[in-house]
Amino acid sequence: MAVMKEKNTDSTIRILDQATVNQIAAGEVVERPASVVKELVENAIDAGAHSIRIDLATSAEGIRSIQVIDDGCGMSPADALLAFTPHATSKIHRIEDLYHVHTLGFRGEALASIAAISRVTLTTRLRAPGIIAGTKVVVEGGKILQTCDIGVPEGTRVLVQDLFFNTPARKKFQKSKNTELAHIYSLLEGICLAHPEISFRIVTNGNQKLMTEKSPRILDTIARIYGSDTVKELIPVNLVLPFAKISGYISRPSLTRKDPSQIMVVINRRYVSSTIINGAAKQGYGTVLPKDRFPIAFLFLTIDTELVDVNVHPAKKLVRLSKEKEIALSLTEAVNTVLLHHDLIPGIQTPSRSHPNKSDIETEADADQLYDFRTPAPSGVSETTHAGTLTTDRQLRQTELVTGMVPLETKLPVLEVIGQFGGIYILATTDTGELVVIDQHAVHERILYEQVIASTAGDHCSQELIVPFILHRSMHEAAVLRDLLPALAPAGFIVEEFGKDTFLVRSIPVVLGKLENMSLIDEMVNDLVSEEPSGAVNNRERITRIIACRGAIKAGTVCTMEQCQRLVQQLRYAKNPFTCPHGRPTIVRFTRSDLDGMFKRI
Ligand code: ADP
Ligand code: MG
Repeated sequence: MAVMKEKNTDSTIRILDQATVNQIAAGEVVERPASVVKELVENAIDAGAHSIRIDLATSAEGIRSIQVIDDGCGMSPADALLAFTPHATSKIHRIEDLYHVHTLGFRGEALASIAAISRVTLTTRLRAPGIIAGTKVVVEGGKILQTCDIGVPEGTRVLVQDLFFNTPARKKFQKSKNTELAHIYSLLEGICLAHPEISFRIVTNGNQKLMTEKSPRILDTIARIYGSDTVKELIPVNLVLPFAKISGYISRPSLTRKDPSQIMVVINRRYVSSTIINGAAKQGYGTVLPKDRFPIAFLFLTIDTELVDVNVHPAKKLVRLSKEKEIALSLTEAVNTVLLHHDLIPGIQTPSRSHPNKSDIETEADADQLYDFRTPAPSGVSETTHAGTLTTDRQLRQTELVTGMVPLETKLPVLEVIGQFGGIYILATTDTGELVVIDQHAVHERILYEQVIASTAGDHCSQELIVPFILHRSMHEAAVLRDLLPALAPAGFIVEEFGKDTFLVRSIPVVLGKLENMSLIDEMVNDLVSEEPSGAVNNRERITRIIACRGAIKAGTVCTMEQCQRLVQQLRYAKNPFTCPHGRPTIVRFTRSDLDGMFKRI
């Protein structure tokens, strides 16, 4: 307001000087030190470099300097100066070129922006016959301080120091040295993956942090960055979808993360972040993964450049896809199909195998619990009661009755039951000479779950009870149940309100078979009206899971050998035999060498 008062006669609008304009632009392009690394490395890649070296130096306060050295095409003396001018680029000429961009850069603002807020020293020499001298340019806060000839190798070296020296506000926003380094490393991991044809070397304070070799095999690069333990858990993906070609790798369900940060997406050789693609990949796992876990994936998409808008983000982190929904949907289906055709039985962690992120790996933690021999194990041989055997028989028959079932082509090995342990686990051997342990409840739950889904797709999912079952509920529970009635009907439960807080259950799902014990209905309703802790799945899915869980053979039920064999046989009809509907494993595998390792026979 004070400004307005002082000058009310002439115009108050003024055209900003170029230095201010550049600093403002830099605010968008250079958010943090990792942005500088990104722009410099992308320029080196665009220059056709075969090898790129990144040198970082830190001080107590943060990142002190960033240097990127490449053996790319280099620049002439004139270009070396022009490169620092805003909107100066050699990569596009006209707006139409944006739809055919094959380079990572095209906006012509990175070097100008970086130089506006730091001190940049660039040395370069054109890769061309007869050129012997190179050029050095020093720019500080957007001002050219020095240009001269210099003897340097072919290629370009850019050194950035004193980042944000003239934009103190931005400097204050920088996080700790380690946070900034973490951002830089994670960015570089993505870039290394997107360009396996280039060898990268990353050095921090003189220590080599990562080195990748040029390799046509992306798996080599993945192994370099994430280790061979990760590589062992990957399944290849190679697909031609209507609007995109996808290649890469996805993790088995035994290897997961708590967030999607390790779903790496590369679109047309550009490492990008895409919540849509991340979501589509996760969705493809369906119930194979718990809902709060994410796979690791390396997805390389090749999409017609006309369908990709690269000019939607100043730092080019995001792209816009014009067939985004279609691509996401087909990716989900594709991931699902790939998983269905793989043997997903997790192995056991032997003492010789170590993993850097052990606590982060769901099934390994589960496996540890299962085989903690310090806790006293329940007796291995128990007696089954006559009534128990009959109930189990009925439950098994129910999941055998569904008509039109054909064994599915999953990678489940041929299994031969050798016994049951603790009334919980079925022990079996595979045709490939391994020992597997099967969670009988989880397995039956999986089979039932798939049958509920299949049966509710048709009209005959419901069976009428000869005598309707009466349910009394508290006022609160009755209110919850009332809301659920519309979702219960398609699942086969016909429930009607019958006076105050009382309900009449007229029909139940066919898949539950003939119930001798009506308390099962009571248990299911208890599950339904009790608060869902994370509330992430819809009512329909919840109901399906509850029917599967309550209808399945319980843990602690002693089964005969024949019953165990029948249950294992039924698993052949499941699309996803390897996990229960909550994403926990149904089968764990011990190879001969796993056991040898445990007994220190190696
Ligand atoms: P953009 O990459 O969008 O074109 P930049 O400001 O990043 O814009 O770079 C400007 C120009 O400088 C580039 O178009 C390129 O011609 C040249 N350039 C920058 N870095 C390099 C490099 N490492 N090797 C060769 N040329 C480079
Ligand atoms: Mg650039």
